[in-house]
Formats: sequence, C-alpha cells, structure tokens
Amino acid sequence: MDDQINNSETSYSSWDGILHKLVQKIVYEALVWSSLHGLVVGDKADQRSGEVPGVGLVHAPFALLPKSFPRTHWQQACELAPIFNELVDRVSLDGKFLQESLSRTKKVDTFTSRLLDIHSKMLEINKKEEIRLGLHRSDYMLDAQTKDLLQIELNTISSSFPGLSCLVGKLHKYLLDHYGNRLGLDSAQVPENTAVIQYAEALASAWKEFNDSRAVIMIVVQKDERNICDQVVAVVYFRAGYTPNDYPSESEWHARLLVEQSSAIKCPSISYHLAGTKKIQQELARANVLERQELYDFLDNSNVIDNAIERPDSYVLKPQREGGGNNIYGDDMKEVLLKWKRKGSDELSAYILMQRIFPAVSRSIMVRNGVVHQDNAISELGIYGAYLRNKEKVILNDHCGYLMRTKVSSSNEGGVAAGFAVLDSVYLT
Ligand code: ADP
Ligand code: MG
Ligand code: MG
Repeated sequence: MDDQINNSETSYSSWDGILHKLVQKIVYEALVWSSLHGLVVGDKADQRSGEVPGVGLVHAPFALLPKSFPRTHWQQACELAPIFNELVDRVSLDGKFLQESLSRTKKVDTFTSRLLDIHSKMLEINKKEEIRLGLHRSDYMLDAQTKDLLQIELNTISSSFPGLSCLVGKLHKYLLDHYGNRLGLDSAQVPENTAVIQYAEALASAWKEFNDSRAVIMIVVQKDERNICDQVVAVVYFRAGYTPNDYPSESEWHARLLVEQSSAIKCPSISYHLAGTKKIQQELARANVLERQELYDFLDNSNVIDNAIERPDSYVLKPQREGGGNNIYGDDMKEVLLKWKRKGSDELSAYILMQRIFPAVSRSIMVRNGVVHQDNAISELGIYGAYLRNKEKVILNDHCGYLMRTKVSSSNEGGVAAGFAVLDSVYLT
C-alpha cells in the first residue's frame, strides 16, 4: 500500500486520521470475510477455474469502505425503477417502433440485425407474450457540477451482480460494525441490499404464474447451452446472449429463436432485449418520443458530431453492445468521427453519441487480487428493478436493491467483470 493514505483528501472527515496500520488490518479482515462468505469470482489465472467447483476462486474486487451518496438522489433512483420497468414493457409492445428505430442500425450491425430477425418472425406469427418478466438495472452517475442524477444506461438483459453487490453491502456493514467508531462511520447508513432475494422471488413468481408444477426455470449461462428443447421450461433467464460472442455458431441463434417461439416466459423476451438497446434508449430520449413515453435526456442531432470532434472529451461514443469495455472516448472517438464524416458513412447508425458525465471525484481504497490501491475514484449507482405481468395484471413492479461500482477516475470504462471497477456499496448522507 502506498503512504498516501496518511495525507489523502477524502469525503470522510475522519479519514485524515486513519493510520496505515488500521487500514491494513481492515483490508486483512475484509479479505478473510470475502473468502468465508463467498464474495468471490473465478480466478482467470487458474485454468480449472469455472470447470471444477471450488477450484480457482479469488475475492471479487471491492472498495474497502462504502461510498458517500446523498439520500435524496438515492430515493429518486429507487423511485424511477418502477417507471423504467413500465416503460420497457410498453416499448416492448410497440413492435413497429422497435423495428423502425433500429432499421438503420440493422444495416450496419449484424448482431442487432440477427436480434431483429427473431423479433420480425415473432411479429409475423403474431406471437403474444402474456406473462412478461423483466429483471432490469438502471445505472446512474451523479453529475458533479449540476448535482443531477444522470442515467448512464438501462440494462434489460443479464443485469449483473445482484448476488455479489448484496455481499459487498454486508461486508461493509460488518467492517463498520467493527471499525465504524474509529472511522466515524455508522453501519446503519449503508442501506440493506435485497437484490438477490428479490430477483429470486421474481423468478419464482414468474414460475408460479406459468402454473405447471413440472416445469423448471432454465438459466442460460455463457459457454453454449444447446440442449434446450427437452423440457418443459417455465422461465428462461438469460445470463448470456447479450454479446455476439455468445453466438459463436448458427446453433446458438437457432436456440435463441426456439426459446422465443416457445411458451416459456423469457427474461428477457426479444422485445424486452431490443427495448434495452442503446439505440432505443437514444430514440426514447429524443424530445418528441420522450413526450410519448414520458422520459428525458440524451441527445442526437447533426451538429453534435462536429461538436464532439471539437470537444471529444465531452462525449462518449457507444456501440450497440453490453458488458463494458466497448465504448470509444477522447482522441479515438475523434478519429472515428472524422473518418465517418469524410466517408459519409452509415456506420454511425450502429452507435450512439452521449454527453459525457463527470461525477465528483473522491479518494477510495480499492482491493483487487489481494492488492490494495488508493486512488481518486468515481462511482456509478445501479438500481435493480423487477417487473412481472400476466395479461392485464401487474403482479410485481418494484425497485429491488442496488449495485455501486467505483473505478479510478482516470479510467473511462466501468465494468467490474471487465476489470475496470470494483464493487462498492452506498453510505447514505
Ligand atoms: P455497457 O452496456 O457496456 O455497460 P455503458 O453505457 O454502461 O455500457 O458504458 C460502460 C461504462 O462507460 C459505464 O459503466 C461508465 O463507467 C462509462 N460511461 C458510459 N456512458 C458514460 C457517460 N455518458 N459519461 C461518463 N461515463 C460513461
Ligand atoms: Mg449495459
Ligand atoms: Mg453499463
């Protein structure tokens, strides 16, 4: 650990006095706690990891202490969750809107095009999804200058970390129960995180609505799953399928189509999946569409490209992808935009351009692979939402727990799995 810990500036007033030794002690305790409570991920360094259970595990990267976050914004984010759930549901029913909004993207992005093909097939046979289950996560950053809560994106497929985020909250509560007095922090300020329980309950409720006691819940994970037609499946939960890498051959596309054609409840259905794509989020943010769907923000007009070329650090260029590590920033973005402009290329339709958000920077102690690192960091808050509907009856529509991710402020991307961020929790102020 570097010595800066003694003279760092932090958002916690009492941190000035934190002794090097105390931090080391807390880190040690946190690492032991993580191993004992399953706050772990597969260790890429071990070849057998992921194949042999219990082999090749390492603690998940975490922030040592929870991140200060204003209670009012926290509440606002929680209150938005059911509204976004409802929005996704309504958009998913507007097949024409999805097809039209993505028609230009379809020409230049094969992945989106394949998803749209499945969607068209469902429209052709007039397939109705009567029971609809959405497990979403809306991500935000708190803009430092305006203090506004700004949405980064809305995830409708494979919303990650409902499990580990709960554990990090527990870890932080545990550490504050033991060291809170000395740190001037109170574990009661860390909100309970029930994401994993509520996600499980939502899946179980969907299964119940399906109303066949012999049916099972199938969870689609990465590394191909081909044998999907043998069972009566009530709910198919996709924890994979959001990136082209998950479809290495035609058989995966065929499987996705079969699932979509089946009577199983899909989480997400192809319409929910498409409704969550970045291009659709951009469409929804256009003023007139927004009025229709009652939502705000983002941008898309022709001057904006010139503006982004002039001020590349004020924008983020995002492809139609999920999972982190895909965005283009700064000079790279400028180069790409200049090239497109020269060529007059259509490729831009595969991307959205978004104003860059600059959240407040504060010192964080981050632990990755047993190594402690203190740095200036920024955070992104995700609020999980669950939605279940059977025909006209909304059975479930609620926010359910949160994910806080913290990353060094010099890093552009934010994914934990992608190696940019650490798991964190919230300290309400
Ligand atoms: P993905 O679906 O791959 O997670 P995101 O839109 O969440 O895509 O972008 C990945 C990361 O890039 C985010 O977690 C965040 O750290 C950063 N990011 C995305 N959009 C912005 C933005 N407008 N301003 C600042 N950072 C952003
Ligand atoms: Mg995403
Ligand atoms: Mg994201």
